[in-house]
Amino acid sequence: MLFSDYHNHPQGHRDLPYTQEVLEPWANYAKKVNLKDVALTDHGRYHPGINLDEFFKFRDNVKDIRFKIGIEIDNDPETSEKDYKWIEKNYDKLDFVLGSVHFIDEWPFDHPQHKERYSEWDIDKLYARYFDEIKKLVNKGFLDGLAHLDLIKIFGHRPKKEITTFVKDVLNLIKEKGLTIEMSTAGWRKPVNELYPQHEIVLLIKELGIPITTASDAHAAKDLGHSYDRLYELLKKYSFNQVAVFNNHKIKLLPI
Ligand SMILES: [Zn+2]
Ligand SMILES: [Zn+2]
Repeated sequence: MLFSDYHNHPQGHRDLPYTQEVLEPWANYAKKVNLKDVALTDHGRYHPGINLDEFFKFRDNVKDIRFKIGIEIDNDPETSEKDYKWIEKNYDKLDFVLGSVHFIDEWPFDHPQHKERYSEWDIDKLYARYFDEIKKLVNKGFLDGLAHLDLIKIFGHRPKKEITTFVKDVLNLIKEKGLTIEMSTAGWRKPVNELYPQHEIVLLIKELGIPITTASDAHAAKDLGHSYDRLYELLKKYSFNQVAVFNNHKIKLLPI
C-alpha cells in the first residue's frame, strides 16, 4: 500500500505561522488514512510562517508517523529570490525541497481567475515555454523532487504536438540530476481530471528509471492521501514497486 505523502500545505494559501494547533490536525488525519511518512511542503512565498522549531517540537511528539519538513519552491517573479535565500539558510534543517513552475512571466497560469489568458498563446509555444521554465528551475539547484510536472494542462488545454516531444529533454535532465518526480492525485481534483503527470510521461519516467514520490498536494488536512487507493492500483499497473522518501535530502527507496 501507499504510505507516504510528499506534498502538503498546512498553511493552505496564506502565511499562517506554524503552531502546534496548526500542525496537529495533520498528524490526526495522517493517522486516520494510515500514512507513515509525510512531508510538509508549504509554498516558498509563505516561508515567514514556517517556524522550524515549532515543526521539530511537533515532529518529536508524533508517534508512528515520520513527519518531514520541506518546502515547495517555484518561479514566483516577486518572491522567489527571497524564498531561495531562506532555503539556502535552512537547507541543512530541511528534509525535502520540491520544485514547481506556477508562473509564465507574471502570469499565474494555474489560477482559475487568470485562465482566460491561455487564449493569448499558441498552445505548443506555451508548452515549450513551460517546460523550459522547469529546466531553469532544475538548473538553479536545491531540489530533491519535482511537483505536478505537467501542471500547464490544469484546465484541459492540450498541445498539438505529442507531449513526449516537450518532455524528453526535461526528463533526461531530471534523471541526470538524480531528482524524483511526484505522482500527484491533485490532478484528479482539477478541471483536467487526470493524474499529474499524464500517461505518456509516466511511461517515460518508468523507462528512464526516475524514482517517484507519491503526493496529494493537500491544502487541508482532510485531503492527505487523497485518492490513494486509486493511485496505488495505477502505480501497480505501471509496475512501480518502490517510492522515494527523504531524510535530510537523502533519498531512500521503499517497497509499495
Ligand atoms: Zn504547486
Ligand atoms: Zn503545492
